[in-house]
Amino acid sequence: MKVLVINCGSSSLKYQLIDSKTEEVLAKGLCERIGIDGSMITHQPAGGEKKTEEIPMPDHTEAVKLVIERLTDEKVGVIASLDEIGAVGHRIVHGGESFAGSVVIDENVLNAIKECSDLAPLHNPANLIGIDSCRKIMPNVPMVAVFDTAFHQTMPKKAYLYGLPYEYYEKYKVRRYGFHGTSHDFVSKRAAEILGKDRKDLRIIVCHMGNGASVSAVKYGESVDTSMGLTPLEGLIMGTRSGDLDPAIIGFLAEKENLTASEVIDICNKKSGIYGMTGISSDFRDLLKAIQEGNEQAKVVRDAYAYRVGKYIGAYTAAMGGVDVIVFTAGIGENNSMIRGCIGEYMEFLGTKIDEEKNKVAGEEAIISTDDSKVTVMVVPTNEELAIARETVRLTE
Ligand code: AMP
Repeated sequence: MKVLVINCGSSSLKYQLIDSKTEEVLAKGLCERIGIDGSMITHQPAGGEKKTEEIPMPDHTEAVKLVIERLTDEKVGVIASLDEIGAVGHRIVHGGESFAGSVVIDENVLNAIKECSDLAPLHNPANLIGIDSCRKIMPNVPMVAVFDTAFHQTMPKKAYLYGLPYEYYEKYKVRRYGFHGTSHDFVSKRAAEILGKDRKDLRIIVCHMGNGASVSAVKYGESVDTSMGLTPLEGLIMGTRSGDLDPAIIGFLAEKENLTASEVIDICNKKSGIYGMTGISSDFRDLLKAIQEGNEQAKVVRDAYAYRVGKYIGAYTAAMGGVDVIVFTAGIGENNSMIRGCIGEYMEFLGTKIDEEKNKVAGEEAIISTDDSKVTVMVVPTNEELAIARETVRLTE
């Protein structure tokens, strides 16, 4: 079956067409600036050239239409007609407490996703628009919703409750949900597979370090804790997000800078993290370049980044009563040996040793700990699109 995977933002739409048998990506692309002047579509067939065109896209339905045109185009297309698309998998950011797994989309599911919009006002409405647009153009194709939060629904209450008046949980479902669930699930499963073990026998810590970043504790196959919370703002220092903060800072800065609470939170989301701390860029590669050029502040930011990850590894080791495997994934975790080495220093108390030579790996599956290390440390590239495609096939075939 050919599965179209859709990841829809408020003004963007990322897509991949995946052959579920071979798990090959047949084509992928991105629509940007939907509903804004200067809309662009970038399309790339497997093995072919990446091509960006500026075409007006007043709404997401028009974007989906253009995607289908590219996929079925005589020159850059990879399928003869729309009929070849067997199912569509949609990435949905917030499933609240309603979804502990992926589901086939029907009216009830749409209503439940809508109800979760309060918890993710920037993401869920955009995800719904993506579903709606695809249904208009492919009314008879089954569609599946895969949630970022679902894998973490196994977290126990002691891990997901905040120390707030309980009525806010009861009234508004204010609690920790966690995100990147598709990645934490995929990577922990794959790590166990590589080791030839059953995930149910392992305590795994997954460090997903991309532009967004989170750590999870996967105990005997289930997520028991993760660093992101009600929203993706909590936890690690990220590209532009602050991660953990004293909540009193919001009021303090609002008063000092004459801002509203939501303006301060916007700063915490979009102007903080590596970007805000360095004043250079949110991109980790720019941080590394600045370190090479002798920028002392960049070094401090790298150390703060690694320290935060190290603290979470320590905390999750305690939460699980030990750890068997620690896995690095996503853009930074997969590619950067220096930061893995820095984080490795915080694992030494566990009898964990990273092998310098093995740690040179980038973007590939590998065990990077020494043979006598008490904990196995690995690099496992994540693939959220493939995970969504697999879920879509599982529920529709
Ligand atoms: P992601 O969100 O998973 O795509 O990851 C994006 C982040 O990964 C950005 O901060 C990139 O700078 C970082 N990244 C990608 N490639 C490398 C690399 N070779 N070395 C260090 N960081 C990288």
